[in-house]
Amino acid sequence: ADIYGIERWGQGLLKVLESGEVGLVNPLNEEAAPVPLLTVMHELETRGIRAPVLVRVNAFLEHQLRRLNESFAEAIRAADYGGSYRGVFPIKVNQQAEVVDRIVTHGAPYGFGLEAGSKPELLIALSRRLAPDALVICNGIKDAEFVRLAILAQKLGITCVIVLESPRELDTVLAEARALGLEPTLGVRVKLTRQISGKWAESSGDRSAFGMTMNQVVEVLDKLAAEGLSHCLTLQHSHLGSQIPNVNEARMAADEAARVFVELTREGAPLTHLDLGGGLGIDYTGEHRAAPNSVNYSLGEYCANLVETVKFVFDAAEVKHPTLVTESGRATVATSSMLIFNVLEATYYDRATPETAQEGDNHLLQSLAEIPSYVSVARLQECISDATWYREELRALFRRGQIGLREMARAERVYLYAVERIKRVAAELEEVPEEIAEALEGYADIYHGNFSLFQSLPDIWAIDQVHPVMPLQRLGEAPTRRAVLSDITCDSDGKIDRFVLADGVHHALPVHDLREDEPYYLGVFFVGAYQETLGDLHNLFGDTNVVTIDLRADGGYDLLHEVEGDSIAEVLSYVEYDPRDALDAFKARVEAHVSSGGITTAERRELIALFKDSLAGYTYYEH
Ligand code: PLP
Repeated sequence: ADIYGIERWGQGLLKVLESGEVGLVNPLNEEAAPVPLLTVMHELETRGIRAPVLVRVNAFLEHQLRRLNESFAEAIRAADYGGSYRGVFPIKVNQQAEVVDRIVTHGAPYGFGLEAGSKPELLIALSRRLAPDALVICNGIKDAEFVRLAILAQKLGITCVIVLESPRELDTVLAEARALGLEPTLGVRVKLTRQISGKWAESSGDRSAFGMTMNQVVEVLDKLAAEGLSHCLTLQHSHLGSQIPNVNEARMAADEAARVFVELTREGAPLTHLDLGGGLGIDYTGEHRAAPNSVNYSLGEYCANLVETVKFVFDAAEVKHPTLVTESGRATVATSSMLIFNVLEATYYDRATPETAQEGDNHLLQSLAEIPSYVSVARLQECISDATWYREELRALFRRGQIGLREMARAERVYLYAVERIKRVAAELEEVPEEIAEALEGYADIYHGNFSLFQSLPDIWAIDQVHPVMPLQRLGEAPTRRAVLSDITCDSDGKIDRFVLADGVHHALPVHDLREDEPYYLGVFFVGAYQETLGDLHNLFGDTNVVTIDLRADGGYDLLHEVEGDSIAEVLSYVEYDPRDALDAFKARVEAHVSSGGITTAERRELIALFKDSLAGYTYYEH
């Protein structure tokens, strides 16, 4: 059975194979056999590319770019809309050169462009070989140098639109344009009054940080007219926030944006492009509802609804349909990357070996030890309540010095044996009542994974993002354990405790017992958007190894690209240590101990070799 719900959230890109492994489905070729992800992992390990690894699947990215562009094209055809679609990828969503370049390549047939929100991102955009009809859209706060570059880029045949964030920014643009003797291509960012729900609600509405109020927009129009440059204003932009959960909120925004566009046109602004920003969401949980980690619409619906909404407004106003632009970042890249890590060890929250109380033990401990004798389906809740009560009482006695360490240790073992009996009986239930299910999730084991949440999955920590997580192997075998995942940092926040399963989001992940000498891999899916960039160096765990693979028509795969993860020397240098100096200082320290006879010269050799190997090595657990 599909207990992990891969059929619901996997978007047809992943499936469970008969071998009990997760397979990567080739979305560009239905005939191609899926590629077992475990095979990819084994072959990467034999090449020396060890877990944790971020795996990017080029075919997934190409597929998504095609879907996005073709869905808009289809919506435009179906609605008989008079304009076309020109998407741009916001670089901030994944700035890695390998990703951006592939987006540029796969997007070229559709004239897909780039959005830059800062000067470094502009330099990336200007240095890529974009299709001639692709846009470069410049958002964010811009200094004179940024503006100059954007104006001059037009001489290279690049349509580089400077989206004004404020009337003051127009002054900078006018000064630079005058100095260069060139005319800029301009856009205005309009603040919409409608607010979206979800995690990014503050990106929209009156109090959002970016964009101009109507009053400011009018100020810009008047200033442009006074300069005789009204004709430079070609684009109107609004961004509501990311991961819009409810399609009607996207419609409301499109409606309002279109209304403003019509008004600006009536004011004489020769606008040609309506940019509706980002926000197209990903259904991370496959629940298909308006919730923070899900969306209540498909890509096709999103495109159809935006096109239709905009068309109604323009038709009613008898204004020419503009080119539609979106800055869909998350939806373009999220599905194409996955983080794969191995489980290092487990802390089991039960014990199979019976444990009884001893004579002279406190009566509460005696009562705790009685629980296994009456565990049954009918008395499950009673047993859970008893176990919790007696353990808490015993802990209180320990805190007051009324029982000693050995008795408390025995109480722990007795408790864990009772938990084991409770879990076993609960496994017989066809339907687990909510309260019992919650208690069982509180008894989850801890699986320690070889990854850093802060480096690789920061949104899980920062904004309670839920990403699908599941084992890559043994899926034909019923998982016998439920676990939360703890990362390798020394931070109790470094854990994953919300998991998408077939019947919703749970606090524990069904997993298998670990086997000696057999790696157990877990995959965290749909991590291509924002995660790589926002990750940090908590505990100095650096970038993981990264590979890009492609899925071949014959069912095989090719390794297209590899980036080695950070070495320890690299992460030390990021935080201002010179690895060479560190080695010299360590050597001097060791030498002092050789001089005083504390360590031998052979020990010195070993210590220095270990230090050097570590400097050159991976920051993650090595085996
Ligand atoms: N455009 C702008 C101006 C943004 O600030 C963002 C991100 O919030 C995006 C586009 C990308 O949004 P998304 O990833 O939801 O498509």
